Amino acid sequence: MPATMNQDPADVVIIGSGVGGGGVALQLAGSGAKVLVLERGRFLPREPHNWDLEEVFVKQRYKTDDIWYADGRAFRPGMFYFVGGLTKFYGTAMFRLRERDFERVQHEEGESPAWPIRYADLEPWYALAERLFGVRGQAGIDPTEPARSCAYAHPPVPHEPVMQAIHDRLQAQGLSPFPMPSAIDLGDAGRCRRCSNCDALPCRIDAKGDAEIKLIRPALRQPNVELRTGVLVERLLTDAGGRRIVAAQVLEDGVRKHIGGKLFVLSAGAINSAALLLRSANRAHPGGLANSSDVVGRHYMTHNTTALMALHPLKRNRTRFPKTLALHDFYFGSASYGYPLGSLQLLGKIREPMLRGPLGHLPRMLRALLAQHSVDWYAQSEDLPDPDSRVTLRQDGAINLHWKRSNLKAHQRWVSQCKEILRGTGYPLVLAKGFGTEVVSHQCGTVRFGADERTSALDALCKAWDHDNLYVVDAGFFPSSAAVNPALTVAAQALRVGRHLREQLS
Ligand SMILES: Cc1cc2nc3c(=O)[nH]c(=O)nc-3n(C[C@H](O)[C@H](O)[C@H](O)COP(=O)(O)OP(=O)(O)OC[C@H]3O[C@@H](n4cnc5c(N)ncnc54)[C@H](O)[C@@H]3O)c2cc1C
Repeated sequence: MPATMNQDPADVVIIGSGVGGGGVALQLAGSGAKVLVLERGRFLPREPHNWDLEEVFVKQRYKTDDIWYADGRAFRPGMFYFVGGLTKFYGTAMFRLRERDFERVQHEEGESPAWPIRYADLEPWYALAERLFGVRGQAGIDPTEPARSCAYAHPPVPHEPVMQAIHDRLQAQGLSPFPMPSAIDLGDAGRCRRCSNCDALPCRIDAKGDAEIKLIRPALRQPNVELRTGVLVERLLTDAGGRRIVAAQVLEDGVRKHIGGKLFVLSAGAINSAALLLRSANRAHPGGLANSSDVVGRHYMTHNTTALMALHPLKRNRTRFPKTLALHDFYFGSASYGYPLGSLQLLGKIREPMLRGPLGHLPRMLRALLAQHSVDWYAQSEDLPDPDSRVTLRQDGAINLHWKRSNLKAHQRWVSQCKEILRGTGYPLVLAKGFGTEVVSHQCGTVRFGADERTSALDALCKAWDHDNLYVVDAGFFPSSAAVNPALTVAAQALRVGRHLREQLS
């Protein structure tokens, strides 16, 4: 198929409209630079199906049809290609990493490496990201909370009665539960109706602080930013020497084209960005772009995570927005265990259709009973970077994901401890189910940034060491995963990089 080239190249071409791409686009909005955002997905339609659990969880209406492979086994990954990226489906938990997460931390089964920046470098950008996303929270209770330059702009989401009772029982155990920082538009003039359809569902009334609503739409209000949807970037093309990216090869409405630009910001998500860089191998870069260190695609992480259903046969849980509590007392270890364990936070309310996959072997009535009576939690531990945990390309070009799991002893220990804690809140039975390879929600690490170009693909401002005009700002840049949810950190670094680019371009 012949490729056509645009005559009027953009100053900045951003690939992907998720938190990373959106953060950079917003920082460049209103500048003199001509910014073009290329997004493979479309705007997610607002439709009754948004909140239809059968459609979302059973028919998987919004999940990609793409097939990836896990060491030869085909699977349909938990990827959602829309303007706003994965945040259209995210659970709105917006955490900062802890100060120590930026440093080298010893775990029982390995080491979590230091970042090339410190927490203080990102703090102002965390503050900005929280403001932009409308994060609600309360400082001063989380025992591992990093230093903050300002309070949350909005008070936390109030507990519903069941959560208040659990909060009190946790406190009675001597623990320090704290309000979960959450990006929902609640409050007097807020749109949120506490509808129960939040975690893993799109918000039909735009009450979720996602990247489309909070970053992309505001950026598009400025005339210098253009978004083109339905544009799949297949490869990046370089000049003959390989130092500069000159164009993106894209597929748009079945037509293959080249889109030229002066500077490229890749933010297609940690797995897709790595795949795109590998797919862009050329004579100057036979191992893929940005990859003279051979780290692209390596160190894939996605957290060790387990869903826990705390059950009491006589208590029905009618909570609508349960995600108001989290626990970090054992984030860095406990009295009996000197290594980090992880975080515990509430999940969105589990309902029967969500259990069809994981508990499909049970009768429907039993699943429904479990869902009515459960309080649903999420135990999360750090996944350590391993060079053999990898995104590679198969001969047919498809993605192969080899998730080499790590740090499982700590996670299992943490899950056992969580069960004990939850039984102590008055729920005698706790069921646990770990998440597998298909769940790529917290993907990160595949295009790591660092201080040494021999061991990292990007510098501390996410510029590729190997190229003069390529930045990668999705969660691929993480050198470690920490044990909190990633979106706020992706946003903070994208805002930091975006401001840097704005200064460079002015
Ligand atoms: C169900 C779910 C719940 C989650 N809950 C939370 C939570 O509560 N808190 C939290 O912090 N995190 C959560 N996450 C994770 C969080 O959403 C991600 O960490 C974050 O959105 C990643 O942002 P990103 O910009 O790195 O990538 P993405 O959001 O993946 O953005 C990449 C964008 O690039 C586009 N794209 C991909 N390939 C191409 C291509 N070749 N050409 C053009 N465009 C392309 C995609 O369509 C997408 O829009 C959750 C994720 C899921 C799926």
